[in-house]
Formats: sequence, structure tokens, C-alpha cells
Amino acid sequence: MSLPLYVQGAWFGGALLFILGLKGMSSPASARRGIVWAGYGMLIAIAASFLIPGLKNIALMIAALGSGSAAAWFSGKKVKMTDMPQMVAVYNGMGGGAAAAIAAIEFARGDAHGTITTTLAVIGALIGAVSFTGSCIAYAKLQGLMQRAYRLPAQNVVNVVLALAAAALGATMIALAPAEPELIYVFFAVALALGVVVTLPIGGADMPVVISLFNAFTGLAVGFEGYVLGNPALIIAGIVVGAAGTLLTQLMAKAMNRPLSNILFTPISGAAQGGGAIEGSMKEVGAIDAAALMRYASKVIIVPGYGMAVAHAQHKVWEMSEMLEEAGVEVKFAIHPVAGRMPGHMNVLLAEAGVPYDKIFDLEEINGEFAQADVALIIGANDVVNPSARTDKSSPIYGMPILNADFAQNVIVIKRGKGTGYSGVENALFYGDNTRMLYGDAQPMAGEIIQQLKAMG
Ligand code: NAP
Repeated sequence: MSLPLYVQGAWFGGALLFILGLKGMSSPASARRGIVWAGYGMLIAIAASFLIPGLKNIALMIAALGSGSAAAWFSGKKVKMTDMPQMVAVYNGMGGGAAAAIAAIEFARGDAHGTITTTLAVIGALIGAVSFTGSCIAYAKLQGLMQRAYRLPAQNVVNVVLALAAAALGATMIALAPAEPELIYVFFAVALALGVVVTLPIGGADMPVVISLFNAFTGLAVGFEGYVLGNPALIIAGIVVGAAGTLLTQLMAKAMNRPLSNILFTPISGAAQGGGAIEGSMKEVGAIDAAALMRYASKVIIVPGYGMAVAHAQHKVWEMSEMLEEAGVEVKFAIHPVAGRMPGHMNVLLAEAGVPYDKIFDLEEINGEFAQADVALIIGANDVVNPSARTDKSSPIYGMPILNADFAQNVIVIKRGKGTGYSGVENALFYGDNTRMLYGDAQPMAGEIIQQLKAMG
């Protein structure tokens, strides 16, 4: 059926807004605007869909839109910043599941669309179904509902067998189109199982890359199903999400120095094994000494991590930094690409606290400066400053680029106790001769340093 020009034009306009929105999201300064634009793009695309002549099931569509929008509105308002990765996993899963459901309906109708369209529908269904169940597992792991990593015996063989079975079933569906319902059920069961089995063993530090990969999968699946439905807005939105997700996956894998094949087939488990014995002991320091060390320093580099997010300490940290700057200390923030629990996590928190962008530096920009810093202040970061990644070949995180905080003259670490980071690996930095541990929750600790700085005048 050829659609009226106004519907096609509105879809095209919506798709254009998606692209402009994504462009806006490439910088923290314009990200908010980008999200709003993409939101308007979605609104236009949905509204235009209601203008298709001869539309049926309008009440069902409105009910689905209403319940989906209400759920998204309330969960979006309520979600904590630290729970954002779970939320992204849920949205990925929804997108992948929706793409697979579109394909399922098209197969169930039994309309033969021609080989190319059926092939794209099958590929979209496979990717969407894998992304759906994989994202559910990712959600359960990140939410702490299940063990972080669970490896089957002969895991990689099971993965390959399921992937080949899904491909063979899909090929049969294309050859037979329209396929019998039993074949369609078995195909979806295998595809859904594949998503579970591939994701189960992945845990620890690899989870962000997997979520990003499923994001790319969902985009591709939506794009393919957009082709099946003849909907340009879906095709463009899918391609944009697929391309952005693929690039992000590559960037993150590079940031962790873990090829994607390695992440999927030889994952680091949550309870990491390996890593050589660490010599020395952790040496404690009080807030008063930590404050004095920074107050009389020339240069302080702050490395925030997941613990700063948990403690909501960003405002206090910025207040402390401003006081140091007023005292003539140069203060910079060093951001590791996978610090926290989602890409850009630290940038978002620091921006929220009002830290100017020109004080925030990426790993490549700042790493050469740690050797000239009098103090590296680590606030709730662990894996991203673990020197074992540089030096200990037996460490599970060996090869991951890290912030060279250990090169600073003095290192102060604010954390609550002796807890390990997300990868479960011990951190040699905490035992270093130039490192002092300031034990406590990051927010009150930053508050205590502020009090001490005030007392020093
Ligand atoms: P991390 O390695 O997870 O370490 C966080 C540290 O913060 C812990 O050692 C913990 O020690 C401390 N902490 C927790 N709550 C605290 C609080 N209230 N106050 C003070 N300290 C607190 O964090 P990271 O260095 O930021 O590294 C991120 C890790 O997460 C990497 O392994 C990365 O691969 C992974 N990851 C990243 C993403 C992403 O996209 N950015 C997503 C998922 C996973 P105590 O318990 O002793 O306080």
C-alpha cells in the first residue's frame, strides 16, 4: 500500500530530528537539547502513524501507547543515576522484543513478502529476540537479582550450536515462506535461548560493553523490521541506533583493551580469579591531613568513580575543588571512559554539580599530567586506577588502559573500606608507599575536607 505523502513526509521529518538529536548528544553542552529534539522526532513519527488511511485497532494502539508512556514517565522520574544501566538494558530489551514481535506477526500472517523482505524479517527477528532475552539477563545481573556470571560446561560449543540452529531454522523459514507455525515457534524459542545463553557467563567489567552491543543489535533489528513494514522512520531510527551502538561498543571495548570476541567468548567473571599477590599494607590518613596536603599543593587531579555516584558526592566535591582553586591550587578532573556504571556517567554527574567542561579531561588528555601532580585524589574509583592492569599479566584486567594516578607524588583514596571494584580484582594502588586511605562515605568525607579547608582559611 502506498502511503499518503503527508505521512511519509512526517516520518522523514521525524527521522531528521532523530539524526539532529543524536548530533546534539555528542557534547555535554548540547545533550539536553539533543534529547528533546529526538523526543519531538518520536512524537511526530507516532502521530503520523495515526494518519495512515484505513488504520485498524486504534483503541489497542492508544492503550499500548498510554501504558508504555506512563511506565516510561514514572520510571524515568524515579530512576537513580546509579541504576541507569539497568534502565538502558530494559529499553534495549523492549526495542529488541518489539522488533521480534513485529516479525512474529508478519510470519504468523503467512503473507509471503518476497525473499529479500522475508530474509530481513528473519534476521531482524533473530537479532531482536537475542537482544530481548540478553537484555533481560543483563538487567537481572545489574539489579543484583542474579549471580553476576554463570558459565555452562562447554559454554562456547553451546553458543555456537544454538547460533547455527537459529540460522538453519531461519534459512528454512525463508525457503518455505510462508512457514508452518511450529517452525516459527521453534525458531523463536532457539533465538530467545541464544540471548540467555550468550549473556549468562558475562559479568564484571564487561557488562557495559554487552549492553552497548545489545543496543546496536536492537537498532539493527528495528531497522530491518522497518524495511519489512515499509516505514522510513523506523529504518532511519534503527540505522542511527545501530551505528551509534556499534561505535560505542567498539570505543568501550578499546577503552578496556578487550576485543569483542574476548568479551563474548572468554569473559571475566564477576568473582575474578588471578592477579599476583600484593605486597605492603594500606595506610590510613585523616581528613585534616588530607585537606592540608591538598591545600598546600600546586596541582591536584581528582579521579571520580562509581563510589562518588553512590554517595551523591559530586556537589561537595566541586565545592571542595572551588575552595582549593581559591587558595591557588590548580584542580583538574580525570575521567576514565568506563568509570562508574554507564558511558559518560562521571561527566553527567560533574556537569550536574556545575563543574565547567574545561576542567574535565579524558584519559588520553590527562594521563601525562599525573607525574606533575602533587596529589591525585581518588573518590570512589577503583578498577580505573588499578596499576595491575598495566603491570600484572596474570590480572584479569591486564591491558585495560587506566588513569596513571599512581604516578602522582601523593595519592589520597576516599572509599568506605576494603571493598574491591566492579571487576572484583584487588588494587595494588591502595598499598603503594605514596598512597593514603581516607575511609568513609565519599559525601561526608568531602564535607569534612571542606570543614578542614575552612578552618585553614
Ligand atoms: P569500581 O571499580 O566499581 O569501584 C568503586 C569503588 O567505590 C569500590 O571499590 C567501593 O569501595 C567504593 N565505594 C562504593 N560506594 C562508596 C561510597 N558511598 N563512598 C565512597 N566509596 C564508595 O568503580 P570505577 O573505578 O568507577 O570503575 C568502574 C567499573 O565498573 C569498571 O570495572 C567498569 O568496567 C565497570 N562498569 C562500567 C560501566 C560504564 O559504562 N561506565 C558500566 C558497568 C560496569 P568500598 O566498598 O570499600 O567503599
